[in-house]
Amino acid sequence: MPQQLLKNGIIQSGARDVRRAAQALAADVPALLAPLARVAYNYNWVWHPDGEQIFRDIDAYRWRLCRQNPVRFLQEAPERSLERAAADRSLVARAEALRQHLEDDLNRPPSDDGIPPEHPVAFFCAEFGLHRSMPVYSGGLGALAGDILKEASDRALPMVGIGLLYRQGYFHQRIDVTGMQHEYWYGTDPERRPAARITTEDGEPIAVRVPIWGEDVKVHVWRVDVGRVPLFLLDTELPENNPRQRFITARLYDGNREIRLAQYALLGAGGVRVLRALDIEPSIIHMNEGHPAAATIELVRREMKAGASFNEACERVRRKVVFTTHTPVPAGNETYSAREFETVFPNVAKAMGVDMENMLRLGRIWPDNRDEPPGMTALAIRMSRSTNGVSRIHGGISRRMWQALFPGSSVENVPISYVTNGAHLPSWIAPPLRRLLDRYLVEGWHEQKKVTDPATWEAVEDIPDEELWAVRNELSNRLIGWVRSQSVTDRLTRGDSMDYVLKAAQTLDPNVLTLGFARRLATYKRLHLIVQDPQRVLRLLEGPCPIQFLFAGRAHPRDEEAKRMLQKMFELKNDPRVGGRVAFLEDYDMGVASLMVAGCDVWLNLPRPPLEASGTSGMKAAFNGTINLSVLDGWWAEAFDGSNGWGIDGAEDPNAGAKDARDAKAFYDIMEHEVVPLFYDRDANGIPRGWIKRMKACIRTIAPRFGATRMVDDYVRKIYNASR
Ligand SMILES: *Cc1c(COP(=O)(O)O)cnc(C)c1O
Repeated sequence: MPQQLLKNGIIQSGARDVRRAAQALAADVPALLAPLARVAYNYNWVWHPDGEQIFRDIDAYRWRLCRQNPVRFLQEAPERSLERAAADRSLVARAEALRQHLEDDLNRPPSDDGIPPEHPVAFFCAEFGLHRSMPVYSGGLGALAGDILKEASDRALPMVGIGLLYRQGYFHQRIDVTGMQHEYWYGTDPERRPAARITTEDGEPIAVRVPIWGEDVKVHVWRVDVGRVPLFLLDTELPENNPRQRFITARLYDGNREIRLAQYALLGAGGVRVLRALDIEPSIIHMNEGHPAAATIELVRREMKAGASFNEACERVRRKVVFTTHTPVPAGNETYSAREFETVFPNVAKAMGVDMENMLRLGRIWPDNRDEPPGMTALAIRMSRSTNGVSRIHGGISRRMWQALFPGSSVENVPISYVTNGAHLPSWIAPPLRRLLDRYLVEGWHEQKKVTDPATWEAVEDIPDEELWAVRNELSNRLIGWVRSQSVTDRLTRGDSMDYVLKAAQTLDPNVLTLGFARRLATYKRLHLIVQDPQRVLRLLEGPCPIQFLFAGRAHPRDEEAKRMLQKMFELKNDPRVGGRVAFLEDYDMGVASLMVAGCDVWLNLPRPPLEASGTSGMKAAFNGTINLSVLDGWWAEAFDGSNGWGIDGAEDPNAGAKDARDAKAFYDIMEHEVVPLFYDRDANGIPRGWIKRMKACIRTIAPRFGATRMVDDYVRKIYNASR
């Protein structure tokens, strides 16, 4: 790699374009605020305690209107707000401090993790959740990928991300008066986001060609900076492409199978070509979930072009590819018919000089079975030197599921390991709590070496109960304030009666125990368990020591069962007896998630075992002292110790009805006998001592083990640096 492509261990491809975009933005704001234009073009601010706050302090209304997109905010903020901010000395100093923080971060040397900066890890994923202002994610997989990039940046691990720039992102959700979900999309303009189109020396956009459907699709590449880690996003929305080609990067997980397969071809094969066009030769290709598996086909093609035989080429590719699987059910692993593969990749086999059948065999569990549709996961496993699941239980499930790919291996000996997921602490701890931790934990507690040391977190016990409780109240008030204003808007938009609209301003009560349930509304997440026994849930909502529910989540557009379940929840919400104790936030995204995980008291998760591969929202909740009440599946089976939350039996049971009935009963029992009494048991000052004890146990035991630092430690040690 040419040396000018590396600075302090950071890949520079496209860095000049980002700098130019930031300079253009700086020219449009008062000179004293120019540092903020630089800050706006690197997502590093997202996990700085003052990052979000400074934009809000400049113009809170506009910040919300721009959906927390810093570039649009600085482009569109009224001059009056910017002038006022520029005249505020302390705000100007804060802007400069943020910029300095960013420069210091970029000027650190690369880590000594054994990955050479000139040969970084290339992390491929179909979605990345960095912040709600970059809508190229849908849920947990994306949030995890984003957290991995942020953590790689924190530890200066040489890494680049490869993804797609969806112009319309994931669908947005609206609920109508009957509680029915509707989906809509709108286009976004990347010029108004913290991204820059990468150009060559002479200012022309870098263009890569990827053969899909038998013709070349032209691709541009955008750079998004995530601290020290560049994320490269592929874009086909170009006038030279025909409408079908342009649509490839329109929507995340489009409903059309052929478009989806084309997206995977673009991500995998296109991603490899983009790396080459940018002169980046990665030492490791990390495929996060099976979507990018076509990367291995492109790598094989390249090896064969250099003279290797098909088998040699596969062997060489395997030496540098690693794979993380996230799906615990066979149906979740997408397969495509041989015909679909041939339609999307017609010339690839020919270009490789192998017949199509040879390629399709790589994606079948039983290569000789021509009736078996090849799948992305089987292809990924077969072409990787290592495969891992995302929790201890999920590792076991994956060994069972994929045993047939390793003929002669007993289930225990199937070479699939696990790295339990983690969440990026600095991104997910709410600033008021972070300030409290700054006061009571050792200095630099969030740094790599300290944050995973349980001793660092012992100091949580030293925080005075009153202070922790005051922070809980602040976060709870913040959340409920948001819920109320959002609910008023939602009801107005929906056309509800004015009576009902006005009631929204009294939704939820900061003094009442709040249960949060927010996630993809898939049937296996079993939201319906909550209303399994309507009388019992009404008693909980209406009792002298009441509870309240806050829900959020999107149902897959084609999942009618999940949509009906959502409608059922709306019936509860519309019940005049308890309407004020049930709220639903539309359009669940990372912004809603960060408010909810910090502002609820209990985080509820009721998946049907073993379908929760890991789960990460419960970790984010736990970092904030929001206590988990969850089925002992995925990560929670590893984290629960009896003192730091509540657990519901995680055993598998083929009899779904019986299992549902048992788990619903367990949920009500725990609520009635443990959760509610503990929350309302107050001392003379109104402080729930027992509750706070559990909050502390939750933060103290979970933060060191389920942060992204431990997760990336594991990836570096067990996966990236395992003998090659
Ligand atoms: C963390 C997160 C998730 C993951 O949630 P789980 O319920 O743990 O699967 C999903 N969506 C968003 C927006 C998140 O931030």
